Amino acid sequence: VFVYTLFIEVHNEAQVMKKLGKEKDISVFAAEDPEPIVFGSVPLAHRPVVMGFGPAGMLAAFYLAREGYRPIVLERGQDVDTRSHDVETFWKKGIFKPESNVQFGEGGAGTFSDGKLTTRITHPRLHEISKYFVEFGAPEEILYKHKPHVGTDKLRTMVKAMRERIIEWGGEVRFGSKVTDLFIENDRIVGVEVNGSERIDTTVVLSGVGHSARDTYEMLYKRNVEMTAKPFAIGVRIEHDQAVIDESQYGVEPSSLGLGAAEYSLVYHDKESGRTAYSFCMCPGGQV
Ligand SMILES: Cc1cc2nc3c(=O)[nH]c(=O)nc-3n(C[C@H](O)[C@H](O)[C@H](O)COP(=O)(O)OP(=O)(O)OC[C@H]3O[C@@H](n4cnc5c(N)ncnc54)[C@H](O)[C@@H]3O)c2cc1C
Repeated sequence: VFVYTLFIEVHNEAQVMKKLGKEKDISVFAAEDPEPIVFGSVPLAHRPVVMGFGPAGMLAAFYLAREGYRPIVLERGQDVDTRSHDVETFWKKGIFKPESNVQFGEGGAGTFSDGKLTTRITHPRLHEISKYFVEFGAPEEILYKHKPHVGTDKLRTMVKAMRERIIEWGGEVRFGSKVTDLFIENDRIVGVEVNGSERIDTTVVLSGVGHSARDTYEMLYKRNVEMTAKPFAIGVRIEHDQAVIDESQYGVEPSSLGLGAAEYSLVYHDKESGRTAYSFCMCPGGQV
């Protein structure tokens, strides 16, 4: 039932591989180096601006700050503590804050989830990013677990620690700061407008505004920013009796094997249409 991947360091690797190289389960692990960061040749006249402080904006700002670019992050929502309070108030009393809620604010849209680290991509920088997450408070097990997740409480601590590091490295993170317009001259960005009044001069703007900022997309569209429609998937929620899943996966009570609730994933690819149906994320043993 268990599948382990073990990393073993040996002194005489070539010799060992000569002996064991034909075993299909044994291979040399080549740690992929993240691609080197390419620097421009002309210094920037102004600091780069990052719109949004969800996972995309946060990582963009983190790497820019690490490399000395001193980014200015503009996030329309509030810091994660204020935001948590606003979300709690919404859940308990139904008082909704349009700029500080489950979608908007430090950490982005998934901050109130349990932080499943699902990317469905392989990228040489993923391991490096996971190591940063651990440094900032994520559990160490995310480095080796097949289905890693950070956990809600730790997610908030981690997000704050990353913000602090960005600031320590010379970046700036401003909450309650919505980018409301772009200043464009000769087809080039020369600045952004914040909250309908302030202007920040910049020639580099990275957008990480997520998929809920409809007003921002309208503004970008109005400003003729080139956009590409992203393919999307439609999801349905399916509830199964856990006993049915356990029975089909293990044939016996999982506890008799010392296991937890069973799970599954399904993928069906239709060759004719080229479309795929797949199970997305599962909450084994979850209660409704
Ligand atoms: C309830 C929930 C649970 C989830 N759980 C998981 C999970 O467990 N695992 C997983 O992998 N994914 C999960 N997701 C999906 C995941 O959260 C998103 O894929 C991810 O947040 C997208 O990151 P992003 O940075 O692109 O955008 P977002 O996280 O949406 O961040 C965009 C940020 O930009 C800000 N912004 C928008 N417009 C402006 C503007 N004009 N100026 C300044 N700031 C602006 C917003 O306030 C927001 O903070 C979950 C999503 C939700 C809603």
